[in-house]
Amino acid sequence: MNKKDIITIDLEFQGKKQAISSYLIKHSTGVVLVESGPGSTVPALERELTKLGYGFGDITHVLLTHIHLDHAGAAGELSKFGAEVLVHPVGAPHLLDPSRLIASATRIYGDRMDSLWGRFLPVKPEKLRVLRDAEEFSIGDLSFRALFTPGHAEHHICYLLDETCFSGDIGGIRIPGYRYLRIPMPPPELHLQKWKTSIALLQKEKIKTLAPTHFGLYDDVEWHLATIQKNIMAIESWIENNLSREKDPDRLKGLFQLWMNEQASDQGLTPEVIEAFALSNPIAMSVDGMLRYWNKHLHPSI
Ligand SMILES: [Zn+2]
Repeated sequence: MNKKDIITIDLEFQGKKQAISSYLIKHSTGVVLVESGPGSTVPALERELTKLGYGFGDITHVLLTHIHLDHAGAAGELSKFGAEVLVHPVGAPHLLDPSRLIASATRIYGDRMDSLWGRFLPVKPEKLRVLRDAEEFSIGDLSFRALFTPGHAEHHICYLLDETCFSGDIGGIRIPGYRYLRIPMPPPELHLQKWKTSIALLQKEKIKTLAPTHFGLYDDVEWHLATIQKNIMAIESWIENNLSREKDPDRLKGLFQLWMNEQASDQGLTPEVIEAFALSNPIAMSVDGMLRYWNKHLHPSI
């Protein structure tokens, strides 16, 4: 398996390039997708598949890193065309019945829910496959390994295919052309300590290419993973310094935005790139995640 055999499908989420990907790999009896993308980008997925000479019926398997809407929303739709959907055991019940997932996302996104995410259909039970940690499995002539990697979400999986790692969101968010990474920190399962342990696990693997869902393929694996660790430690300090004296979510969002703006200007990011980061990883969502982590794990009230 060469890097060139992995096709990055840009789902052009909300009309923006390099925000959400789905990775396509051809095998002996069809194609695999890593991530389905959200329901709202099903037409874009279909269009890109057609350009490559495939249709939904050619997708034999969809490997989900986790069940957040931007990664898994279209999985149910694809299962209707015959694709088997692979997922962590904790994510599985929500794919069979996404009503709780949709209800909690609706609390966040309100009437923007449909335009942002589209439909989230349940996965057909006979098409759902639950993985074990470190499980090895074959699809056609491809051999994958599932690594449970909690931190961003409790039910997060990285997939290894030879020396490529599909890192979902645990590998952070990056835009091609920039040596800059952001850490997406949504509630309710964010756990920075577990995140560092998961990255340490990846650092022990022989990985030549990282493929984060947001966005693209990267060869500077050692730098990338070390930078994730460094950024998480910087966030831990930021949390300790700021949440110990400020609990108001709106004021914290302002402070965090300032910190992110400083980083963006240090890195010389263009407004388009800043917007792509904001689309994949809204500041407000990360602050909510940090507040929840603080209250639940760092300073739980007894
Ligand atoms: Zn996520």
